[in-house]
Amino acid sequence: MIALSLPAVAERPIAIAVHGGAGTIERDSLSSEREAAIRQALESAARAGHELLADGASATDAIIAAIRILEDAPEFNAGRGSVLTSLGQVEMDASIMDGATLDAGAVAGVTRLRHPIEAAHRVMTDSPHVMLIGEGAVDFARGFKLEEKDPDWFITDFRRQQLEEIQSREQVRLAYQDSWFSTVGAVALDSKGNLAAGTSTGGMANKRWGRVGDSPIIGAGTYADNRTCAVSATGHGEYFIRHVVAYDICARMAYTARPLAETADEVVNRILKRAGGSGGVIAIDRHGRITMPFNTPGMYRAAIHRDGRLEVGIYGDDNEPAPRPPH
Ligand code: ASP
Repeated sequence: MIALSLPAVAERPIAIAVHGGAGTIERDSLSSEREAAIRQALESAARAGHELLADGASATDAIIAAIRILEDAPEFNAGRGSVLTSLGQVEMDASIMDGATLDAGAVAGVTRLRHPIEAAHRVMTDSPHVMLIGEGAVDFARGFKLEEKDPDWFITDFRRQQLEEIQSREQVRLAYQDSWFSTVGAVALDSKGNLAAGTSTGGMANKRWGRVGDSPIIGAGTYADNRTCAVSATGHGEYFIRHVVAYDICARMAYTARPLAETADEVVNRILKRAGGSGGVIAIDRHGRITMPFNTPGMYRAAIHRDGRLEVGIYGDDNEPAPRPPH
């Protein structure tokens, strides 16, 4: 009998990472119930995206599934639970990018949309544009029957209290800078070898109405390119815009051929930090290697690595990251 040996089909790696924002997150600033809810939501989001990837879905579909869960979780600053503007309203931003085609879509300053990430996706797939803002974006989303909610539905007691607390401080400007950033985002590698990134946020607490941060800006808060990596950022948006953080990480990889973890660490922990910009990123390369550096005390994050290992972290010493190379 002749034994037939079939050529081994190399299994393509899949992996996903999600974040729920970076900031002044310290152990005594979170109740155990809140911490448990946050960890649970991060894990559910990563698992939802990973299940789709395991079924052969695209990286864009996986990150939309993950971000939808985080937009619905009131603990995070996206969708319901978004931070409030100085006028006490919710204005949301979101973006998505497909690393295979470099197609991208974004919405900024939107109200009413339960899942701004879906609107950003529609801008990418169903319009000739990359970014739509305000009422124009909501009107566009309506054409696809994306779910809408009354503006009050988005506002939680926690965010009302947060705004009151910020506005009662003497130095409001400082408070604006050290607020928590609990924007959400996801990056993924699918079984076809495609990368994608997405980010969704209510912006920064007590922001001026009409202010737009980095999250919907392709290159600043979100970027994906199959040749290098996919990045979703969280932090003080003005700095991320000025330093074009997400694109800079990808570009440094392309120009220097250095590993993702090194370039992401350099941008977040050296360039951004030196400039005074606080925050972090989640990033994945085309081999499915994930890195999640931040220069704040904590960053809500979860990943399902290419070996199937689940990682959930909040504080700097959770799942102690590999020591950084000396600079
Ligand atoms: N980067 C977001 C912004 O500036 C805030 C955050 O990450 O939570 O709008």
